[in-house]
Amino acid sequence: MQLSHYLKIYPYEEKPGHLLFFSTRKGSITLLKKEDFESVKKGTISKQDSDTLSTLGILVEDREAEKASMAAVLDRISVKNPGLNVTIVLNLDCNFACVYCYEGEMKGRIYMSDETAERLIGFIKEKFTDNKKFINIDFYGGEPLLSLNLVRKISSEMKSFTASRGASYTFTLITNGSLFKRQIAEELAGLGLQNIKTTIDGPSEIHNRCRPFKAGGGSFDAIIRNIKETCDITKIGIGGNYQRDNYKSFPGLLDCLENEGLTPDNIYTIKFDPVMNRLSGDASRIDYVDGSMSINEPWLIKAGSFLREEILRRGYNTPKITPTPCQVELSDYFVVNFGGSIYKCPAFLGRKGFEIGNLETGIRDYSGLYRLGVWKNDECLDCEYLPLCFGGCRYMAYLRDGNFDTIDCKKPYLDASLETLVKQDIKYRGPFKG
Ligand code: SF4
Ligand code: SF4
Repeated sequence: MQLSHYLKIYPYEEKPGHLLFFSTRKGSITLLKKEDFESVKKGTISKQDSDTLSTLGILVEDREAEKASMAAVLDRISVKNPGLNVTIVLNLDCNFACVYCYEGEMKGRIYMSDETAERLIGFIKEKFTDNKKFINIDFYGGEPLLSLNLVRKISSEMKSFTASRGASYTFTLITNGSLFKRQIAEELAGLGLQNIKTTIDGPSEIHNRCRPFKAGGGSFDAIIRNIKETCDITKIGIGGNYQRDNYKSFPGLLDCLENEGLTPDNIYTIKFDPVMNRLSGDASRIDYVDGSMSINEPWLIKAGSFLREEILRRGYNTPKITPTPCQVELSDYFVVNFGGSIYKCPAFLGRKGFEIGNLETGIRDYSGLYRLGVWKNDECLDCEYLPLCFGGCRYMAYLRDGNFDTIDCKKPYLDASLETLVKQDIKYRGPFKG
């Protein structure tokens, strides 16, 4: 047996005489005594231990075969994927006027029509091939709750369609949270609502500045009130967008949630992300340029691990470090805009030339447009971070270079932060709890 390509080995002072192994392919964390690692290298461990270490992604039969197999891993994931995942932009209308809103000038009283919704339902049914076991829809906007009737209509159709095929249907609302009242939550839970994802940009004074109501006034109190009203009905995911000059204040939001009784028991997950720059030439009502260009910026590396620590320290859940391919690379992930254009990623919504098709004419070959498999080069296939990266984010590459010709390498970020992130998981979740 040989050591996997996709492995990071770190010192682990917390337990003298041990080393920490993180398999980027399996997302597994293992502590090994240094002397046992010497036996592994000499090939003198028992068959049973060797089997355990290969289950954990530390040992493989043949490193070259592992690399070759990795080149086809996303195709295998796509073939095996039991789900069909569709993000639907129901409208471009919103009762908020967020300072960094990516929809910028596109925003307005624009809604998906009933006719487009009918076509969309037909498209989803057609894509639901015999091997599929579930459909998940993310309703997105604007503000999806301004299109409540369409959420009801599409969900009712999907619920009875999947039931007739012995499958299941769930949906998520990506909502600003201001309209999510108890009565609506109860009704939508019966139609398959699994969770909501809402955004709170830090403590009230920062959030209210970043995400005011269009009519004026802060939205913080309304969101907190609605979360308290509905957190026993559906799972609540909270996200937040920080910037270089305000990220240190975000723990204040966590304190506020705790004071309001919104504890780890009733908040499903919390994750903070930096505000990213928009594509150049993106017409916007607000000239927002104070975002970030790359996950590798030093302040971002520091801010990301600082905020993750604050979340975990208080006992809240936040995403684990697991293999995460860009959904552009996976089939059966679609993003459908209000007018019927189809995309692969919400970040490109509304950008001309980035559509992969539309509901009337279907999907065209987009492998060249998005340079699928750009990561299948020697450097990436040899890189221990490949399963966490797969060439990075297409949107960030385009933001930086204006094309998809090169990878969006996360190496500097992962070199600087992965050890800390893995150790956070050991500290707050226990090494073998996943
Ligand atoms: S392009 Fe970036 S934002 Fe879009 S799905 Fe891929 S990784 Fe995510
Ligand atoms: S883009 Fe960079 S970090 Fe990602 S797999 Fe390739 S070399 Fe590794």
